[in-house]
Amino acid sequence: MELARSYTVVLPSLEPERQDPDVETGRVIYLMIKIYSNGAVTPYIGTLNAGDTLSVGGSVGTFQLSQLSGVSHLVLLAAGTGFTPMIRLIYHTVVCAPEDSTLLVHLVFYNKKMCDILWREQLDVLAKQYDRFRVTYVLSAEDETVWDGLTGHICATHVQQYVPHQDNGVLKENQNSQTKQKCSVGKVNPLVCACGPPVFTAAAIELLKAHGLTSSHIHAFSG
Ligand SMILES: Cc1cc2nc3c(=O)[nH]c(=O)nc-3n(C[C@H](O)[C@H](O)[C@H](O)COP(=O)(O)OP(=O)(O)OC[C@H]3O[C@@H](n4cnc5c(N)ncnc54)[C@H](O)[C@@H]3O)c2cc1C
Repeated sequence: MELARSYTVVLPSLEPERQDPDVETGRVIYLMIKIYSNGAVTPYIGTLNAGDTLSVGGSVGTFQLSQLSGVSHLVLLAAGTGFTPMIRLIYHTVVCAPEDSTLLVHLVFYNKKMCDILWREQLDVLAKQYDRFRVTYVLSAEDETVWDGLTGHICATHVQQYVPHQDNGVLKENQNSQTKQKCSVGKVNPLVCACGPPVFTAAAIELLKAHGLTSSHIHAFSG
């Protein structure tokens, strides 16, 4: 029996000095895979050792870098391993972007517990380094005595708070937002990318549409 699952090709790191030149030549791919103990495929992947082989199919996906053209705010809604497609987006739009780039990038990252947050240290460093980049963590199952950040699941309040919307081309300042990303009133052209378990991505799309965004402002990474 053959089983297949989809995985996102990631970068080895968000740090320029930790990139692998073999990625550019296509000799090497990096994957970030969560092992589900009750899963059909990932427990097997977890047993693999260096030198073992695995069949890899061709790449699929519909995201085009041209979708970023003219975008003023890039909001990345990620849940768990739904963070994986955001890695290249963050690297491309924050780390590799021209110095005069004005694109505001905000990752809103949903997880259960603090220990589930992938690459938190790197994300925090990046947020300190670049005013244009912001990260917000939301946890759904963390002990309140150790976590004083946002809690819960994706909801209309989060979308209203973090996703700018167009109102005759004028930015409506996000209510209650403590954002460090101040944007002058003017043309706002948001792109919101969402990725996570199917139920998360479906909820995100519904909330974004209710918030007034049209399909051209939403990209869902899904199977
Ligand atoms: C386009 C695309 C890209 C993906 N990229 C990645 C990636 O980069 N890294 C990665 O780890 N996974 C990624 N996935 C998920 C991956 O394809 C598998 O679904 C996952 O590895 C589980 O496979 P499994 O056979 O072990 O579990 P299954 O036997 O399929 O499921 C076992 C259990 O895990 C739960 N489960 C399965 N997938 C998820 C999920 N995504 N979130 C929450 N619960 C889940 C199921 O509800 C079930 O309870 C991606 C999926 C898609 C569609």
